Amino acid sequence: MMRVVVNLYLFLAVLMTLFFTTYMLSKGKTSYIKVFAALSLCVSIYLFGYLLEINSFELQEMIFWNQVQYIGLPFFPVLWLLMALLYTKGKYIISRWKLVFLFIIPVLTFFFRMTNSFHQLYYHSFQLQHTAEFSLLHLVKGPWYYVHSTYLLFCLLLTTILFYGEYKKSISLNHSRFRILLVASVIPHIGLALILLDFLELGLDYTAFFMPISLLLIMLSILKYDFLEVKTLARETIFENCSDGMVLLDMEHRILDYNKEAQCFFSSFKVVLQNRYIDDIMTGQKEVAEVFKGEASQEFRLARDGRESCFEITSTVMENGYGSKIGILKSIRDVTEKKMIQERLKLLASIDELCGLNNRRYFMELLQKEYELARVYDQYFSILLIDIDHFKAINDTKGHAAGDFVIREFGKLIKENFRKTDFSGRLGGEEFAIVLTNTSFDAALQVAEEFREKVAKTEMLYENHSISMTISIGVTSFFNEAKSFEEILNYADEAMYESKARGRNCTTVKFYS
Ligand code: GH3
Ligand code: MG
Ligand code: MG
Repeated sequence: MMRVVVNLYLFLAVLMTLFFTTYMLSKGKTSYIKVFAALSLCVSIYLFGYLLEINSFELQEMIFWNQVQYIGLPFFPVLWLLMALLYTKGKYIISRWKLVFLFIIPVLTFFFRMTNSFHQLYYHSFQLQHTAEFSLLHLVKGPWYYVHSTYLLFCLLLTTILFYGEYKKSISLNHSRFRILLVASVIPHIGLALILLDFLELGLDYTAFFMPISLLLIMLSILKYDFLEVKTLARETIFENCSDGMVLLDMEHRILDYNKEAQCFFSSFKVVLQNRYIDDIMTGQKEVAEVFKGEASQEFRLARDGRESCFEITSTVMENGYGSKIGILKSIRDVTEKKMIQERLKLLASIDELCGLNNRRYFMELLQKEYELARVYDQYFSILLIDIDHFKAINDTKGHAAGDFVIREFGKLIKENFRKTDFSGRLGGEEFAIVLTNTSFDAALQVAEEFREKVAKTEMLYENHSISMTISIGVTSFFNEAKSFEEILNYADEAMYESKARGRNCTTVKFYS
């Protein structure tokens, strides 16, 4: 009777764990679910081997099925722990080296068990033992068996501690979830305790009986509470489909993950992203490699398809639960359009629409800067204040549009006749100012006169009407006596009004007195 129950139980457990494996592989996309699938498979192989071992009668047959168990058995403790780590700590906590380290003992156990007949490191000897219900394999343990058992105990204990920690910290739904996981992690310990106590003197491997119950509980918890998977999936989907490029690097500048947009960005440099060191895949692109290796956020300009694009490369340093840096997430955002709009707005805010020169506000800003520089570096500059003579008459006789035309043409004349280092502006109406940098009084007077004569000789053609005009100019220069830049402008203004008073079409200079 007992035998039938045990066989039936183990048979159903094999089926159930196999079902878990296939179900999770088909449904789960997050790493801990994949680890759970691998864990179920290992337990399934282990149980299958055990089922056939206790149903064999020949010693050799039993040894064979015992060996089959070890295809799965060495790995279940580490997968058990790994699942708990991923489940409780999140995606990026386990580094490659930690992973390799965790798998050393399981791989050695597998290797020693498979080659046991050559060295007896795992089992010294096997004997057939008959109990009331079963024929069992009596095993004399070798040294590595104890290493494996210690490691098993270490993994099981650590898993229980991890789940207990989360259980204590968690609230509401998470609390119930971690309570189930905590119970699931305690169950294998009961199995181990029963083996040690040789419960009922049956000589059975009780972990084989308790593992399926644990897995069933974990499966139920995943099915019932797994918003963690939804959350992780949502994050992965956002990462993948984000309109910004994303590249995740570890602290040694190895690419861990990237999305489509990032690949698209790097294709401009003919770089194909791979999970390798940045320096290895960007050999011809040292400048780009440096941008991505740094921890600072920065701007990156790139000329492609005949136009310049501007990218904002932002860095987010990722830390693990213990405060040490484990990676950098670099996001790449195309800000070309934003920059263009910003520059256009800046231009619009500083330029006079009609004549294309600086507007009053921006001219004043430039004049103030020039004034401050000149004071600090003991330099000088001159200023010309220009007003068109009898402009009202142009408006009155030829129309307002003709007046606009004249202002526009006058703007062009200023642009054409002064140096690049000089700057000018329309102060209002038909009044303009030009600052001649590093220009003394005498030179400024000469330039002003030449310009005035040139304007007087210029004929503008507007709708078959020839328009000519004259200008009155006031000139002054900056000296250290000037208390403010407004004062300099006032001096020039006064000089200009003197020119008007003197009969227009002339230049007047005004010194500080
Ligand atoms: P003066 O020789 O004394 O400077 O005489 P004026 O006629 O040039 O001076 P006044 O200040 O009397 O007239 C300036 C005129 O310029 C008045 C105004 O209607 C006109 N005006 C100001 N801004 C504009 C503009 O943007 N377009 C046009 N078409 N006219 C303008
Ligand atoms: Mg005027
Ligand atoms: Mg005027």
